Amino acid sequence: MNSHQRQFQIFVLVQSAFMLLDLFELWRTGGKPHLAYFLRAHRRLVFFLFNVWVAYFAIQNLLLMAMPSPETMLADFAATLALPTVAQTSPADLWSYALVALFLLFTYFTAALFDYVIHRWLLHHRRWWFLHESHHLPKVVFNGMPGISLRPYSAVSVFLTYAGTSAATVTAIKLTNAPWLFGWYLANLPLLMLLFTSLGSASHSLFLRRYWVVHRSLRWLFLTTPQEHILHHATEGNCNYGNFASVWDRIFGTYVDPQKLRGKQLEIGLSYEQDFLGALCGGKWKLPAAFRRKYQLAEVCNLTNDKG
Ligand SMILES: [Zn+2]
Ligand SMILES: [Zn+2]
Repeated sequence: MNSHQRQFQIFVLVQSAFMLLDLFELWRTGGKPHLAYFLRAHRRLVFFLFNVWVAYFAIQNLLLMAMPSPETMLADFAATLALPTVAQTSPADLWSYALVALFLLFTYFTAALFDYVIHRWLLHHRRWWFLHESHHLPKVVFNGMPGISLRPYSAVSVFLTYAGTSAATVTAIKLTNAPWLFGWYLANLPLLMLLFTSLGSASHSLFLRRYWVVHRSLRWLFLTTPQEHILHHATEGNCNYGNFASVWDRIFGTYVDPQKLRGKQLEIGLSYEQDFLGALCGGKWKLPAAFRRKYQLAEVCNLTNDKG
C-alpha cells in the first residue's frame, strides 16, 4: 500500500467514526425526530448536500493525489542533506528514548507553527481566501458537512505544512547526529497522521462539543479542543487558528478561551451571503436564488443578503 492510499484509508476510517457520532448528535439535538419524517422534510437539502459532498470529495482527493506524499518529501529532504536513509535499529538506551521524546516535541511545535502561519496568514489572506472559504461557509459545524472535514483545496495547506515540517525535522535529525531517528520517524509516520487526522476531526465534532471535560483535558496539552475551534468558525472569529494545537495562538495573542463565552449564542458561518458553488470560485459564480430556495440552502449557510 502506498502512502497516498494509507492517508486515504486513515481519513475514511476516522471520518466515518466521527460522522456517525455527529449525525447521532444532530438527531439528538434536533428533538430525536422520526428518521423517515426528518428525511421527508429535508429530502432536497440532504440530496443537495450529498452531491456537494461527492464533488468536494473528488476535488480534494484528486488534488491530494497530485502532490508528493509525506514519505517522498522526507526522503527528498534527507537526500539533499546527505542523511543516510537506510533503516537503522534505534539503540535501546535512556538517551535514545529521551531523544525520541524531544524529537516528538519538536515535531509537534514545528508542525503546529506551519499550520498556524499558513492558516492565519495565507488561507485567511484576502487573495487566497477562496482556498479556505468553503470551510467557513456552513452555519452548522459537524463532521459530514461538506466543507468542514472535506475541504476541496486542502492539498495546498497540507502540502505546505508537510513540506515545512519535513524540512525542519530532517534538519533536526541531521543536527542531532542520530540517523536512526529518520527510520523511526518514517516507521511511525502513519501513527502521527492518525493522531493529526483524529485531532482535526475531533475539533469539528458536534458530539464532542457538548462535553466540556474534553476541553478541560486537552487544553493542558495545548491540543485544539472542539470548544476552542468553534470560536474560529464564528462570523467574527479571527481567533483560535491552530487546527490541532493552541500553542501558537497563545504565543501570538489570538487565543480566546471558550470558557469565557460559555452559554453565549454564537453566530457561525460567513458574515456575508455565499453558497457551496460561490465558496469554490471566490464568488465568481453562485447558485441561482430559485435553486437555493428549492434545495433549502438557507438552513446550512448564510443567505440573509440574498435578494433573489
Ligand atoms: Zn479558518
Ligand atoms: Zn475548522
